[in-house]
Amino acid sequence: MARHYLQLRDDLDEAALESYRASAESLEVVTSRLAEAWPQLHVAEGDDQALAKLATHRTVELVLPLDERFPLVGRPRYGETRLVRLGEASIGGAEFVVGAGPCSVESRDQTMSTAKRVAAAGARALRGGAWKPRTSPHDFQGLGVEGLAILRHAADATNLPVVTEVLEPSLVEVMVDSVDMFQVGARNMQNFSLLRALSEQPRPVLLKRGAGATWKEWMLAAEYLVMGGNEDVVLCERGIRTFETATRFTLDLASAALAKQESWLPVLIDPSHATGLPSLIGPMSAASLAAGMDGLLIEVHPRPEEALSDGDQALLPDEFDALMARLSALAPALGRQLASPSIANMEAS
Ligand code: PEP
Ligand code: MN
Repeated sequence: MARHYLQLRDDLDEAALESYRASAESLEVVTSRLAEAWPQLHVAEGDDQALAKLATHRTVELVLPLDERFPLVGRPRYGETRLVRLGEASIGGAEFVVGAGPCSVESRDQTMSTAKRVAAAGARALRGGAWKPRTSPHDFQGLGVEGLAILRHAADATNLPVVTEVLEPSLVEVMVDSVDMFQVGARNMQNFSLLRALSEQPRPVLLKRGAGATWKEWMLAAEYLVMGGNEDVVLCERGIRTFETATRFTLDLASAALAKQESWLPVLIDPSHATGLPSLIGPMSAASLAAGMDGLLIEVHPRPEEALSDGDQALLPDEFDALMARLSALAPALGRQLASPSIANMEAS
C-alpha cells in the first residue's frame, strides 16, 4: 500500500487536531523523522480509500506520494517558485539576478576594485571564494578567515550581499555571521554532513550541481537542505562532465529547465565554470535568460592573467559591463528585468 506524506495546516487548534486523529484512526499515521523541522508533516500508510478520505479533511493541506523521490522540493508541495531574498534582490521572481566577483579573494585591492565594478554594472551579489576547493593540493587554497573579512568589507562598501563557498561543516559557525548566502561547491554536492549542517542555520544556500551528478542526485541533495528546515535554497547548474573537451564542462541547460519545472526552487546558471571560456559566457547567459532561469553567477577579475584561480574564464570588468547591458536590453521582451545600473551605482557610492 502506498505511503504518503500528509502536510497539515499549521494553524490548527486542539479540536481540529482531535477530529483529524479520529479520521486517521484506520490508517497508520506516524509523525515522521522530519518532525523537528516539520511538525505538521506526517507519514500515512494504509487503505487507499481511507487515505483518500483523510486527504479531504479540513486539517490536511497537502498529500504527497512518498514514491516521488523528492517530496519536499518537488513542485507539487508549493506550486509557485519560492522567492529567496538576497540583499536587496529576490531570486525566483521577475528580476534576473546576477551575482559576480572573482573566483578567489586574493587581496583587498583586487576584491574591492572588482566589487565596485560589478556593483556599478548592476550585480546584486558579490561572489568570491575565501576557502577554495582546489583539484590540486599544491594550488592556492584561499585566504580563509582573512579572505572572508576582505570579502565582507568590499561587500559592505558596495552594499552587496556576500555569496561564498563553505567547504566543511566546522566552517559553518565560523562563517555564518559574515556571509549572506552559503555556496555549496560542485565537489561538495553530496557532502551530506555539510548539507545537514547548512539545513540547520539561518542563511540561504546556493547548491551547485556536482560535475558528475545526475539531475535526480542534485534534487535529492536539495532535499537534504530542506529536510532540516531551511527552505531558502537556490540551485546552480555549473556544467557537467561529458566526453566534450573543447569547453571546460558541458552546460546542461535542459536539466536546469527540468529543475525549474519539477521543483519550486529558483535556479541560477554559472556559465563561467560551465564553459571555461570568456567568449561563451555571453551566449550562454542570453540562453539562460531566454530559458527562464532566475539569474547568473559570473567570475570577474580586474587582471585575469594574474588570477590565482580560474583566470582563463574570468571576464574583465569592461566585458562584464557589456554583458549586463546586453542582458538588460534582452530582458523586457521576455517579461523580465535586471537591476538598473544607476540604482546599483547609487547603492555603491
Ligand atoms: C567557484 O565557484 O569558484 C567554484 C569552485 O565552483 P564549482 O564548485 O562549481 O567548481
Ligand atoms: Mn572558480
